[in-house]
Amino acid sequence: MIERLKVLVLNNTYEPLHFCPARRAVSMLLTERAEQIESDGVVLHSFSGQMACPTVIRLKRHVRIPNWGMVAFSKKNILRRDRRTCQYCGQSHDEMTVDHIVPRSLGGDSSWLNVVAACKKCNLKKGNRLIGDTGMRLIQKPYIPKFITFSNHPPTVPDSFIKSWHKYLAAYVKDPL
Ligand SMILES: [Zn+2]
Repeated sequence: MIERLKVLVLNNTYEPLHFCPARRAVSMLLTERAEQIESDGVVLHSFSGQMACPTVIRLKRHVRIPNWGMVAFSKKNILRRDRRTCQYCGQSHDEMTVDHIVPRSLGGDSSWLNVVAACKKCNLKKGNRLIGDTGMRLIQKPYIPKFITFSNHPPTVPDSFIKSWHKYLAAYVKDPL
C-alpha cells in the first residue's frame, strides 16, 4: 500500500513542487528536512513506530527552480493539455495533430494560446483560415498549463489525499487534479 501512496511536496514558500513516494516523505520528516503539513488516517508502520501517513509536507529550506510552473511548449504537451481531444469536434483519435488557431501564414505564433489539439479531419477542414471564416468553434479556450498537472501527474491515491492536496494546488493551478 505505502508503495503506491504519493505525498505532495511544497517548497518552504508553500508553492507545490512535485509528488514523492510516501516512504521518501516519511524519511524526509524523520531526518527533519521537511515538516508535515497535512496527514491522513492511513497509519504507517516504520522502525520508529506508528505514524499517520503525511499527505502534504513542506521543505524546510527553499528550493530554487528556474521557470517554476512553466511547461515546455511542444506538440506532446499540447496534446496532453487538451487530453488528446480535438478542440474543434471534441473527438479523440489515435493520430492527433496540432492546429494553429491563427494560421502561421497569417502571422499566428506557436504558443500555448494559439495552438490546440486537432484531429486530422478538422485540421484539414480548417486549413489556413481564421476560425471565424470556417464556421468551426473551439470547445474550450486554450490556456498555459502549469508544471504540476504535467510532470508528476498523481497516480491513484485515496480521495482523502486528493482533498488534502487541493487547497495547496488550487492557488497555482486551474483545475489541478
Ligand atoms: Zn476534430
